[in-house]
Amino acid sequence: MRVQSADVVIIGGGIVGSSIAYHLTQAGCRSVLVLERESHQGKGSTGKSMGGVRAQFATTVNIEMSLYSIPFFRTFDDAMGHPSGYRGQGYLFVATQERHLKYLQSNYERQVALGLKTVELLKTEDVIRVAPELRSDDILGGSFCSTDGFVDPHSVMTGFMLRAIDGGARLFRNTEVTGIEIDSQGVRGVKTNNGSIATRNVVNAAGAWAAQVAKLAQVDLPVEPLRRMLVPTEPFDKVSHRSPMVIDMKTGFHFRPEGLGLLLAWNDPEETPGFKTNFDPGFVEKILTRGVDRLPCLEEAEVNPKRAWAGLYEMTPDHHPILGSVPGVAGFFLANGFSGHGVMHSPATGRITADLVLQGKSDLVDTRLLNFERYAEGRLLEETAVL
Ligand SMILES: Cc1cc2nc3c(=O)[nH]c(=O)nc-3n(C[C@H](O)[C@H](O)[C@H](O)COP(=O)(O)OP(=O)(O)OC[C@H]3O[C@@H](n4cnc5c(N)ncnc54)[C@H](O)[C@@H]3O)c2cc1C
Repeated sequence: MRVQSADVVIIGGGIVGSSIAYHLTQAGCRSVLVLERESHQGKGSTGKSMGGVRAQFATTVNIEMSLYSIPFFRTFDDAMGHPSGYRGQGYLFVATQERHLKYLQSNYERQVALGLKTVELLKTEDVIRVAPELRSDDILGGSFCSTDGFVDPHSVMTGFMLRAIDGGARLFRNTEVTGIEIDSQGVRGVKTNNGSIATRNVVNAAGAWAAQVAKLAQVDLPVEPLRRMLVPTEPFDKVSHRSPMVIDMKTGFHFRPEGLGLLLAWNDPEETPGFKTNFDPGFVEKILTRGVDRLPCLEEAEVNPKRAWAGLYEMTPDHHPILGSVPGVAGFFLANGFSGHGVMHSPATGRITADLVLQGKSDLVDTRLLNFERYAEGRLLEETAVL
């Protein structure tokens, strides 16, 4: 072990831990140590993500997190000297029922009121114009935001970490945190498989494993792992490579262009919590049934199940992240529970967490809405636009 102390120790070197390290160093805190148990970064959920980024959410706090994060991705390459892979190809929500339209309408009003200028409600013919490949006989309308799109999560994570290291941060790989030491003042240090580190500030950025890390500080964190599976097609040119992410609100099936083909996603409502990271070959038929229903040309696409994969969402009871300090454990901070939105919200999370660690407050969002205490106090949020 090369150092025995740091001002801030971050547990987990995924996209969230990397963004926090970057934002801390940007704010002038140079003594930052990121501990990652794997031999390289990105082996958690970050390397499995679909890379979608969107501001089309239902709650104010999710929209505000995106209003910071998406412009950040747009200017990432110049600001960070590293590619984010941001492609503003949009997200298209496709409505087939009146209740979908009502839902999109109320989301639209909230998004516009918060300052989103690139979102529009679409009539059926506009939906067909944006995505002519869809079966459209039951489409009633939709909503489209042109600055939504995709990033390369691994590249964003790497850019954050490279710039954090330039700013003085250090990254230790192959270093698993096995204990969190607490004294009368709060956090005193962490134990690892590689020795102990003294610190008064620890940030839990352990993704789907966050509850296990919180347990080390005697904290019960309501974050559960939930398997999500993605299926890429072989090269396929029946859908434009400029297509947006398209979400069929009827089934939840969604897809976007990826490489020379498409990347297909559908969240199986029968999936149960647990650390399952194997891909279930039976999923291919399930997703293609939904997929062909909305995108008939998918019938002609080839899929090799060996190229499909599974990863873990980190779910909270109200599908919103848990950010900030823990009452009774001074110096223990949470950046957890993104419920499948941790890539798109990584810039805002880094900024908010750095603010909370260094100043005890942040003006980016109303952080009280996302604090740990909300569960004990019964202040749950409701986000219905979870993909
Ligand atoms: C299939 C799939 C599709 C997704 N699609 C999207 C999407 O389109 N858009 C979006 O925004 N998000 C998406 N997500 C969610 C997104 O990937 C996650 O929210 C995000 O990657 C979380 O980042 P993280 O850094 O918190 O977690 P991770 O990337 O999992 O990093 C946590 C790290 O902590 C390390 N760790 C754990 N315990 C310890 C320990 N004790 N000591 C040291 N290190 C430890 C792990 O090894 C890991 O590297 C998707 C996820 C999946 C699985």
